[in-house]
Amino acid sequence: MSDAQSGRMQLHTKILLGMVLGVVLGFLVGPNSSLLPQTAVNLTGKAAVVQQADDDSSPAELSYGLRQAQIVARKPADDGPDWLEIRWKLDARQLLALQQHEPKAARGAKVGEPHTGFVRDIAPQVTSYAPIGQLLVDATEWLGRLFLALIRMVVIPLVFFSLCVGVASLGDLHRLGRMGTRTIGLFLGTTVVALVIGVGLCNLVQPGTLLAEEERARLLSSYSDAAQSTAARAADSQGVVDQLLSMVPSNPIASLANGDMLQIICFALLFGIAITMLDQKRAKPLVSMLDTCNEAMVMLVHIAMKLAPVGVAALLFKVVGSTGLSVLLALGVYTLVVLGGLALHAAISYGTLVTFGARLSFVGFLAAIRPALLLAFSTSSSSATLPITKQCVEDNIGVSNQTSSFVLPLGATINMDGTALYQGVAALFIAQIYGMDLNLGEQLTIVTSATLASVGAAGVPGAGMITLAMVLTAVGVPTEGLALVLGVDRLLDMFRTATNVVGDSTAAVVMARLEDEKLEVHTT
Ligand code: ASP
Repeated sequence: MSDAQSGRMQLHTKILLGMVLGVVLGFLVGPNSSLLPQTAVNLTGKAAVVQQADDDSSPAELSYGLRQAQIVARKPADDGPDWLEIRWKLDARQLLALQQHEPKAARGAKVGEPHTGFVRDIAPQVTSYAPIGQLLVDATEWLGRLFLALIRMVVIPLVFFSLCVGVASLGDLHRLGRMGTRTIGLFLGTTVVALVIGVGLCNLVQPGTLLAEEERARLLSSYSDAAQSTAARAADSQGVVDQLLSMVPSNPIASLANGDMLQIICFALLFGIAITMLDQKRAKPLVSMLDTCNEAMVMLVHIAMKLAPVGVAALLFKVVGSTGLSVLLALGVYTLVVLGGLALHAAISYGTLVTFGARLSFVGFLAAIRPALLLAFSTSSSSATLPITKQCVEDNIGVSNQTSSFVLPLGATINMDGTALYQGVAALFIAQIYGMDLNLGEQLTIVTSATLASVGAAGVPGAGMITLAMVLTAVGVPTEGLALVLGVDRLLDMFRTATNVVGDSTAAVVMARLEDEKLEVHTT
């Protein structure tokens, strides 16, 4: 084992330890921890603060724009959720909001003045938390953000340089066309299989019929605002022809600046092709310069990865510490169907492709891409994970830079089997809850629209949730139904992103094998 390899092994272990640490600390000392005193509340705009308990119609003075308050006492109510007596001090932000919206009440009010009121304990409009836990999250959050920022910084230049170099050194456009057709065929094929597995499983288990009536009503009312804004964002999306045409940038520099991945891929491909068509003697210095830039980007990834264990711990500490378990329990069966579907798809589809298509041991393959998996899981972003995925398949399996530079950025942008499977299950689950019995034709619409929706979803956290609104519309399920599944989206995002990254890596090894590359798993 070389030094470099033993160093990498240590990094896997360190990232894993960071994840475990983040999760454990999140449960033990996060804002939601039941071990710490929950003496404060977060309020959303919908929470009504009143002067007197048992009097819903007397708004407390100067509670407009209130987001956080201290809990003074809890008062059980006969007619619904408990009342919480809360105390807060007017801060500058709240006073400004007051001056704009309630100028009369704001007159004479001063920053720092103490106030009290009562609020019903209705989650998630009112969620209690432990201030110490929140303090810890606030103090460590920057570590996760810094790590993510460093990795994201590399994504765009890495994709651009590596794709240009990959295509330019291919020297054979016929090969590029062949690889392009095969790659896109494989992406679409696996996505459809993922959807069939998800939709099939959801038909079998029928999780929508298991959700209690009052749980359904609570979820619908609690998350309705968020569902509306998610559906509104999805409404902005374009048709297929426009989407294809918009891949050709009118200004490639603007595409690079805006991080528009499909446009960058299109430009880098064409630029690479143009280089191969130049006189080779003249093109050589340019290719070698692009190659050096590419290597420098890879080096930057190595530097950023030094922060990975701490960054991952901070990211997971925040997610676990701030997500309540109650929604998870209510949506338990649905969550299990999504997770079961993802596991089945990984084992059956990817297992078969890696074993027979790439002739590699599936377990060895998973071990080789472990750092990418752990990062996908903790960042919920296949784009942010891209540099590490590339590094894993190249260094640990032997895929060439040409193949990985072509397959992986394209995969991180359009190949999202995990997202598609999740959308299939979610759409059917929501339909089941609304008592809609979808026939085979309608279920096929789910398969086609979720395939397109997953292609359209960006590799960033929560993207699959937004394009899910398109799937719901296509099959005539009310988009307010998004409210039912929003609560567990963050958790499922981690698993579907990890599946997306396995899918991209699978495509990379299969394509490499088809190109007769010598593959071998180096695991430690
Ligand atoms: N977060 C996912 C990804 O980056 C996309 C999604 O929301 O499903 O791959």
